[in-house]
Amino acid sequence: MNAEIIAVGSELLLGQIVNSNAQFLSRELADIGVNVYYHTVVGDNPSRLQEVIETAQKRSNLLIFTGGLGPTKDDLTKETIASLIGRSLVMDDKALKSIVDYFQKTNRVMTENNKKQALVLKGSTVLRNDNGMAPGMGIEINRITYMLLPGPPKEMNPMFTSYGKKYLLERVGTVERIESRVLRFFGIGESQLETEIEDLIDAQTNPTIAPLASDGEVTLRLSAKHSSFEVTKKLLDDLEKEITIRVGQYLYGYESVTLVSQVLEYLKVNERSIASAESLTGGLFQEQLTSMGGASSVVKGGVVCYSNDAKRDILNVNEATLNNDGAVSEKCAKELADNVRKLFNADIGISFTGVAGPNELEGKPVGTVYIGISSGTQPTKVHKLSLAGSRQGIRERAVKYGYFYLLKMHN
Ligand code: ATP
Repeated sequence: MNAEIIAVGSELLLGQIVNSNAQFLSRELADIGVNVYYHTVVGDNPSRLQEVIETAQKRSNLLIFTGGLGPTKDDLTKETIASLIGRSLVMDDKALKSIVDYFQKTNRVMTENNKKQALVLKGSTVLRNDNGMAPGMGIEINRITYMLLPGPPKEMNPMFTSYGKKYLLERVGTVERIESRVLRFFGIGESQLETEIEDLIDAQTNPTIAPLASDGEVTLRLSAKHSSFEVTKKLLDDLEKEITIRVGQYLYGYESVTLVSQVLEYLKVNERSIASAESLTGGLFQEQLTSMGGASSVVKGGVVCYSNDAKRDILNVNEATLNNDGAVSEKCAKELADNVRKLFNADIGISFTGVAGPNELEGKPVGTVYIGISSGTQPTKVHKLSLAGSRQGIRERAVKYGYFYLLKMHN
């Protein structure tokens, strides 16, 4: 089955509400192995709705509509579909009774137009509305299945899960499930990552690979489809293995984890404490780490050593280092990381020094960044980066690299 979800409602086009119905249904359909190829949104206008249906009939064999089943004149979904598929609308006695009951229960006067909600397509399977009045329905005509659902999510979601899904499952046959796995990468651009796995992307069928880039990170969503969970797992495992052989050094986590959450997790599990010396980043590293619950068990503290005086007086950076190499140097980053670790009696010390811009510093170009990591157990390592972007962008990327290097230092 190839589905198209058609949301009807001018308020969607006016930007007054978001199409959360399509998101919900897409997830539910993926769960039962139905491909969703199109999301369409159309206003409460019968001729445009008609055009949308005619297009959908040519490319999809499951059309799911949400909205436009209400009592008012602009609710035209049923009427438009009825005339296109050549079916009349008939009164459904059960639906009418539940509407009458609903009004009695809520002590409200039922107006005549409310009866319209109990009209259903002749020959359709009626889907009960346990949370409102308008029933939904499903009908198959000329090998195309039409499903009509109400607009309000609090009515539509339970109707679909309780009745709509079952109706579709009877038609889909064996349930194929789509399992997805998100791999998160840092330190590699989207285009470079795609180049490294280009042949896998070109050959993809099952599983599929969907790359997405944002905030200096790249994710790959791998999706496999099969009726057996063991088979989808194996398909995903095999593909992940192939990908990590090529770009595994940039992989830092799965699903919705972040670099900072991974670092915190690492520190907690390994019972290691951390302290930071931040010049370039002005406390950003500490801010992000301490905004996570449970940070107090591993974060010892930090120094925002923005001036050279602070670097020398608080963190004991050698005068000679500052005079000869400068504050933005490998040597300074190393001393900062070592000394902040000792100052706070922490297991790990991390330092950030660099040029965020807009002007160069000590003859070093904007974007020059040194990140030092001192652990006491391994030689102190200093990473040099040349970052591009705005002042804030450079500071934020530097912090992300700091987290990334911490993770990679230990595995
Ligand atoms: P009603 O009986 O309430 O009129 P209906 O089936 O006719 O229901 P609409 O009138 O189209 O549905 O929409 C009713 C409300 O449902 C909207 O105002 C909106 O809050 C919500 N809604 C409709 N479509 C969507 C959608 N695609 N995503 C999220 N919410 C929606």
